[in-house]
Amino acid sequence: MMKNNKVLQIKKGQAEVIEKPINEPGYGFVRVRQTLAPNCIEHRIYQTGFYEFHEGECHAGHEGVGVIDAVGPGVSKWREGQRVVIFQGWACGECHVCVSGLGATHCVNLKIPTEVEAYNDSESGGNGFCEYRLVPQNMLELIPDELADKYASAANCLIGCTYSGIRDLNVGPESVCLVGGVGFIGLATIVNLKYRGATVIVLGRDKQRMQAAFDIAEADHYVNPEDEDWLEQIKALTPDGRGVDFSFDCCGYPYYQQKCLDATKHYGTLMILGYAAHEPDLKWELNTESGLSWGHKNITAHFDVNFNHRKDILKVVGDPWIQSKLDKLITHRFPMSQASAAFELLNNRTNANEFVGKVHFIPGE
Ligand SMILES: [Zn+2]
Ligand SMILES: [Zn+2]
Repeated sequence: MMKNNKVLQIKKGQAEVIEKPINEPGYGFVRVRQTLAPNCIEHRIYQTGFYEFHEGECHAGHEGVGVIDAVGPGVSKWREGQRVVIFQGWACGECHVCVSGLGATHCVNLKIPTEVEAYNDSESGGNGFCEYRLVPQNMLELIPDELADKYASAANCLIGCTYSGIRDLNVGPESVCLVGGVGFIGLATIVNLKYRGATVIVLGRDKQRMQAAFDIAEADHYVNPEDEDWLEQIKALTPDGRGVDFSFDCCGYPYYQQKCLDATKHYGTLMILGYAAHEPDLKWELNTESGLSWGHKNITAHFDVNFNHRKDILKVVGDPWIQSKLDKLITHRFPMSQASAAFELLNNRTNANEFVGKVHFIPGE
């Protein structure tokens, strides 16, 4: 008898593994038996019942690592037994975004998980949080033999989702950068900036996070945004007080977006990496004339790994310094059947005695 697929169903305050059929991959698809399913922001679904970009209770999760266990027709590049990291979404591979090698989830023809199911004639459910996952062949990257699954998984939303944006800005050892609103994305941003040799100033209020910014991510300076002279403190850390070259809002809140922009030098860039979609009423009232035009500043945003950076990212997560950071940032591993305990831990992490970072689920357990 064919085994069933294990799929995590998430509702507000409830997460349980349910069984669905395992389906065969359709044309251009492979099936991956996932060995790791990292949590990203899905604990917010458990907390609020709001699915954000996820499609519903059986389609949560989006990061993943595993072994190809079936190959559909029309797939020549992949074979059973290969270890792969899965990049989220189903990008067309043909639009101007895809052919330029840019972020796959920015594809203009991006398809959603229920379209993946319909295309594959599948009812297997799952997106990231499942054991057997149907994946389009252009959304995989081969994991080098010597690289452990745990480190390879960081090519998703740990090192990956901030890597491409920071690389596109050409941040280097001469750059002075500000990271505002330090949650998990912020810690990963600091690691990516330090990897490139930049000087990093952090702007944040949460003591535990600020401690982690120094102890784990090796930030250089700290400024409290509640201090009256917070802006002067930041400027004093930059050449001739001009302001930072690059600032990164890592939480999606206008409070930090405005402060990051104010601290950015003329001709500098604010990159928004944070994501506060769970609070859809948030609005940033930006004065574009004084805020942007006079300082000739740039505002941009990023949240995905570029197609053309995937191979490089798997090299980066093989770097011993990066791995020493990942050992501290990936803090917990749970069987997927115990996801509710993990979500409780994540949603109460400010009260935890220990640092709670990235949580990995084992989909088959
Ligand atoms: Zn496309
Ligand atoms: Zn993610």
